[in-house]
Amino acid sequence: MFSKVYFLPWNRKNELCDFLKVAGVVNHVKARDFLAIKIHFGEDGNDGYIRSEYVLPVVKIVKERTAYPFLTDASTIYVGKRSDAYHHLLIANKHGFTIEKCGCPVVIADGMRGNAEKKVEVNLKYFKNVYIAHEIYNADGFVFMSHFKGHEITGFGGALKNIGMGCGSKSGKYAMHHSSKPLVRQELCIGCGTCVKNCYQKALYLVDKRIVMNKEKCTGCGQCMVSCVLKVFKLNWNEGPATVQEKIVEYAVGVLKNKNGSYINFLNHISKYCDCFSLEKNGPLMYDVGIVAGVDPVAVDQASYDVVNKAFGKDFFKSIYPEIDPTIQLNYAEKLGLGNKKYILVKY
Ligand code: SF4
Ligand code: SF4
Repeated sequence: MFSKVYFLPWNRKNELCDFLKVAGVVNHVKARDFLAIKIHFGEDGNDGYIRSEYVLPVVKIVKERTAYPFLTDASTIYVGKRSDAYHHLLIANKHGFTIEKCGCPVVIADGMRGNAEKKVEVNLKYFKNVYIAHEIYNADGFVFMSHFKGHEITGFGGALKNIGMGCGSKSGKYAMHHSSKPLVRQELCIGCGTCVKNCYQKALYLVDKRIVMNKEKCTGCGQCMVSCVLKVFKLNWNEGPATVQEKIVEYAVGVLKNKNGSYINFLNHISKYCDCFSLEKNGPLMYDVGIVAGVDPVAVDQASYDVVNKAFGKDFFKSIYPEIDPTIQLNYAEKLGLGNKKYILVKY
C-alpha cells in the first residue's frame, strides 16, 4: 500500500493555498473544530523557522470549513525564550505570528509554566503513559507545519518530531530526552529559593543556603532548570539517538490517538541544527527545495528525506551526522501504525 504525498517546488511557493487544497490537508476538518496548527515560532536569534506568511494560507482554508484555527506550540525544557508561555508569546509576536498577519490567535498549549498536561495511555516499549500539552490534547484535529532540517539528536527533524517532541509537555519532553534527573551543580547555588517554590513534587530544599534534591521524589519535569537563572540544574543528555527517536514516536502515538491530522513539511533553510538554536552559524547548507504535504506523517517525512537527499546529490543527513541513523524514527513509526513509508509523490 502506498500513501499519496504532494510536492510543491520552492519557486512556486506563492501557490501554497491551492496546493494545500489539492493535497487534502483540510479534508479532515469539520465545522466548529478547534483546529491546532502546530508550529515552531523560532528561538530568539534563530532565522530558520517557518515564516508567518506561510501560515495565512493554512488558516484561510481551515476557516473555509468554518472551523476555529489556532497556532500553538509547547514550552521547552532548555532555558531560552520559549520555556514559559509569557516569553514564548513575546517571541512568537516578535517573529510575526500575530492575529493581523496569520488570521488566528496563538495559544501556548501547556500553560504559563509548562505544567498543564494530560496523561494519555499508550502502553508501548518505553512509555505506558505519555504527557501531552493540555491544549494539544483538547484540540479536535491538527495541521502540523514542520520545518524539515538537520537535527543534532535525531538526524533530521520533520513531522514526527514536531508531533512527538513538539507536543509533549515539559515533563514529557524531559522523559523523551533522558531517563535520569537533572544534574545539580550545588556550588553555583546562592540559596534564593525560587526553584524550591517551582518544584511541584517538593523534591527540592535548602540546607545552609545550598540546594539539595531528593531524587526519590524528582520526576524529571525540568521545571527547576527553567526556574534557576544561575543554571545550577543541568540537563543530563544521556540517551542515544535511537532511543530518543523511538520515544518521540511513542509520544506521537499519544498525540494522534483518536485524532486526525495533516502534515506540511517546509524543505527550505535546511540547516544542520534545529530551530531551538539561536546560532548565526546555523544557516542553510543547501538550496531551498520545496514543500511536501499529505495526511500520512510517515510518508510525508520519508518523502521529505528522499527529496532533500536527491536535491543534494547524496545523503545530506549522513553527510552532516554520519553517526546518526535518522530512519529509525520512520521505521518505528511505521511499525506502530502511524503511517506508511511507501508513497507516491505527486508533483503539483
Ligand atoms: S533557583 Fe538556583 S540559585 Fe536559587 S535556590 Fe534554586 S538552585 Fe539555588
Ligand atoms: S526536575 Fe525534579 S527537582 Fe526539578 S522541578 Fe522537577 S521534580 Fe523538582
